[in-house]
Amino acid sequence: MSDVVLIDSIEIRRALIVTARQMNALRINVNKSGNVSVRITSECGREGFLITPTGIPYEALEPADLVFIPMFARDLSSAVGLRKASSEWALHARIYEKKASVRAIVHTHSVYATAMACQEMAIPAFHYMVATAGGQEIPCAPYCTFGTDELADSAAIALAEHKACLLAHHGVVATGKDLDDALRMAVEVENLAQCYCIARSLGEVPLLSNEEMALNIEKFKTYGVQK
Ligand SMILES: [Zn+2]
Repeated sequence: MSDVVLIDSIEIRRALIVTARQMNALRINVNKSGNVSVRITSECGREGFLITPTGIPYEALEPADLVFIPMFARDLSSAVGLRKASSEWALHARIYEKKASVRAIVHTHSVYATAMACQEMAIPAFHYMVATAGGQEIPCAPYCTFGTDELADSAAIALAEHKACLLAHHGVVATGKDLDDALRMAVEVENLAQCYCIARSLGEVPLLSNEEMALNIEKFKTYGVQK
């Protein structure tokens, strides 16, 4: 993973819009309920992130519609853009503040993951791929009202040791080292949630041991590394 944070550019703005549209194409998002962001440094050197605006269909998004929010913003008075930021901007802000390794965030209401979140269930260690999120399970953050600082804090705490979490009675947050990585994680969480719901419909689902999951977590730390 590169330690260089991207400078704001038309290319990164286009990549963010492509990611937002892929959420719908991959059927992990409906309408405008999800949102996407990427950590950048603005052209004048301020650290922060770009995020999708509220209320504009992804198909209609233009690079200039994205909103820049500086790090440690506590309201939108310092946001830069033609549009108003996603109502969940604080959720993204708090995660970037707490985890330097997070470079992009995808938030969706994908169906199976949200169904589990509505049961206030974590995705347990029923499949080795649960370890790709970095822990023994994919946790479910306690419910808080959408768009609030409380929800932002709840998610940031759940993500302290994980790359993804469910939000009770709400949806999913997936993080990554770049936009593609965060999108992949959101797709993986939905796939695992769907598998778990089906497996559970067949009866009680046996879980992998803590020791086996610890092994899987370690293996994923180097999985796919070419050298
Ligand atoms: Zn949401």
